[in-house]
Amino acid sequence: MHDSRKLGYAAPVAVTKTIELRTEVPGPRGRAILERKERVIANAKAITLPVVAAEARGATITDVDGNTFIDFTGGVGCLNVGHANPRVLEAAHEQLDRFTHTDFTVVPYEVYVTLAERLLERAPFRGHAKAAFFNAGTEAVENAVKFARLFTRRPAVIAFEGAFHGRTLLSMTLTSRPHPYKAGMGPLAPEVYRAPFPYEYRGIDAATALRELEALFVTQVAAEQVAAIVVEPVQGEGGFVPAPQEFMTGLRRICDEHGIVLVVDEVQTGFARTGKLFATEHYGIEPDLITLAKSIAGGLPLSAVLGKAEIMDAAHDGAVGGTYVGNPVAQAAALAVLDEEGLVERSQAIGEAMRARMHGWQERFPQIGDVRGLGAMLALELVRDPATKEPDPELAGSVIEAALERGLLLLKAGVHGNCIRVLCPLVIGDAELDEALGVWEHALEASLP
Ligand code: PLP
Repeated sequence: MHDSRKLGYAAPVAVTKTIELRTEVPGPRGRAILERKERVIANAKAITLPVVAAEARGATITDVDGNTFIDFTGGVGCLNVGHANPRVLEAAHEQLDRFTHTDFTVVPYEVYVTLAERLLERAPFRGHAKAAFFNAGTEAVENAVKFARLFTRRPAVIAFEGAFHGRTLLSMTLTSRPHPYKAGMGPLAPEVYRAPFPYEYRGIDAATALRELEALFVTQVAAEQVAAIVVEPVQGEGGFVPAPQEFMTGLRRICDEHGIVLVVDEVQTGFARTGKLFATEHYGIEPDLITLAKSIAGGLPLSAVLGKAEIMDAAHDGAVGGTYVGNPVAQAAALAVLDEEGLVERSQAIGEAMRARMHGWQERFPQIGDVRGLGAMLALELVRDPATKEPDPELAGSVIEAALERGLLLLKAGVHGNCIRVLCPLVIGDAELDEALGVWEHALEASLP
């Protein structure tokens, strides 16, 4: 069992072998459950990795057939503090034994207020800031737009190509990729406009992206009609594309010039994933609103909007809410997440170790077109040919399958589905990390000519 409090520092490099495969994957028990699933679960809930979880600890998942995998998916970035983090579990159990729900706006509770205080102490706001809690990332995004619209009294919202902000009506509209997220599900929400995101590997630099954004005010929507610009500091589902400094500084300037609310969506980048608690800290800019979810509560559903007090207070009583929003068990877990020591340092160390290995792979395999990210939020972009940069989603799929067969769980990303991203728990030990990267390397060797 890992002790994440110590891992930030001198994690001993022991030769361990964590992965243990006892059956084919899925094994007989897993297969039986997946067959039952086919009959009763909507087809839209297709399975990415046929590993039916029985238990998970730290950076590992053991399936119902007794196979143990190293998990680089981390519940899609929700488990920076690791599966079953003992301190998070203890805090959640303690709250569970006291009460599970009242609805904070009907009968309030202290943990809601304490968590707001603790998050705001750490958040990159220079003046008075406030918080509101929800359940999922999509709710945080939808509510951030409500706050921005009520504050500015304007309707329009700008999002970027490659963006992912969720799957409810407005956040789905803000999300860029039509398949599988939007096609057939219209009409979409009105007053959403889209500008290019800087993607240097694919020829879009920060200056071009900023120019196109400003052109939007001439060709599509008047700047004085825009309530918010919503941006991921590192695009997550879009393929782990970090925003250049110049772009974030430019967005801040444009928002200031036109009275637009800058919403930084840190749902995937938050809680040390990028080597800072909030990815925004890399850029030295002050956002107006921040959305948080995923790793905020160590795997329990919780999300938040943090923001400048005058914007948050522009929403009238009852304007934002929901029966379950700000669940006290998830909030108690979130306090324990904030108590974890060494996560930021660990993210930096994991990022450096992985980046070095990935650059080594890139030298061997020209199909690895790009290695990019921030901190431990790293991805490979796979292409058929480094000259044409034609995306190769099939290769990404083969590498993921070859890794699965060898006991490593990996996840795709990217608008073309040709990136493989790392969202491993940050409590992963050095030996486990090394083992996982060794498996990934074998998976590349097995999948590439
Ligand atoms: N925003 C970003 C940047 C995300 O990565 C995601 C989910 O992947 C969301 C919003 C939506 O979060 P949720 O799936 O919790 O609704």
